[in-house]
Amino acid sequence: MSATIRTITDIVEKLAPLSYAYEWDNVGLQLGCKEDTANKILTTLEITDAVLDEAVEKDVDMIITHHPLIFTPLKNITKDDIKGEIIYKIIQNNIAVYAAHTNMDIAPGGLNDYVAQQLDIQDTEVLDMKEKILYYKLVVFVPSGYEKKVAEAISIAGAGHIGNYSHCTFRTEGIGTFKPLKGTNPFIGKQEQLEEVEEVRLETIVPKEKLEEVIRALTDSHPYEEVAYDVYSLVNEGPPRGIGRFGKLSQPKTLKDLAEYIKYRMDIEHIVVAGNLKTVVEEVAVINGSGSDLIQAALHKGCQCVITGDVKYHDAQDAISQAINVVDVGHYHSEKIFAHFMAQYLKKEADKKGLKIDIIESSININPFQII
Ligand SMILES: [Zn+2]
Repeated sequence: MSATIRTITDIVEKLAPLSYAYEWDNVGLQLGCKEDTANKILTTLEITDAVLDEAVEKDVDMIITHHPLIFTPLKNITKDDIKGEIIYKIIQNNIAVYAAHTNMDIAPGGLNDYVAQQLDIQDTEVLDMKEKILYYKLVVFVPSGYEKKVAEAISIAGAGHIGNYSHCTFRTEGIGTFKPLKGTNPFIGKQEQLEEVEEVRLETIVPKEKLEEVIRALTDSHPYEEVAYDVYSLVNEGPPRGIGRFGKLSQPKTLKDLAEYIKYRMDIEHIVVAGNLKTVVEEVAVINGSGSDLIQAALHKGCQCVITGDVKYHDAQDAISQAINVVDVGHYHSEKIFAHFMAQYLKKEADKKGLKIDIIESSININPFQII
């Protein structure tokens, strides 16, 4: 089965809905048309001139980037500046551009979690809460015998997840009544005849951002022509959602050993460390990209070390004076895994759906810095 750009954006947004992103960010489809075909996709941390050359040479239909190509509002698109020139070339080659940025960092199972996993950080929690997950209660009335099919469909679409449990539903049996009026085509009963049917009241919870998808799965899987369902707002708050993760190292390490371990696990030749190399570190925070503004948050969570990129001199000085250590792996190195992470996720989802698409990880090293 072939895919459209929309098929791909739906897959990405299943993991990282656009509503997860910070207000200041710019995510989603930035160039292109959702109805165009997507046979070949390139994943990259960022779109540079060299990455675009690679995309053109490999004849891709879509680029999925972590750093948004269009971030600040554009007043014009001309060839007089590098951004305009890149956009020009992308449009001339009919390539779609999609950005998955802070929504992908924040998403449970997204980039923050992937980096934490790479460093084998255990029992991770959100470091800086953006919001708490809002839930709705969904109640639907299903004819007896169809409740399993409907429950399965809505669970796959994202309903009924509580902590590490999926498929959480509750069922009660009862009698449903209805009278099909003129012009109907009832699944059970006849027109103008009052019916009493054994039904199951199926209830579950749905996170706000999954509601639309779950209702679609509900109406698609339910046998009735008109589906009777209720959606209630809930007051109870779900778990926090936000940026950065903190947790325990699988084994306590000195800062020096931790630094060596990070170099090995993240495949980095040199990293910058601020702190006492002999300190024993057990609780760490990790923020891919620029995370120095979360050093305080990590301190309050009891971390002895923050692993991030783009740490400024004064931030490092302040960290040392507050006895928290900082490992700066560099912005590039903290996020270079995006291309691989995104490609792996897309491949897995495309296989599940039987989609015939070619997914390529960019092979261009876009790190602007060299150590000599
Ligand atoms: Zn970044």
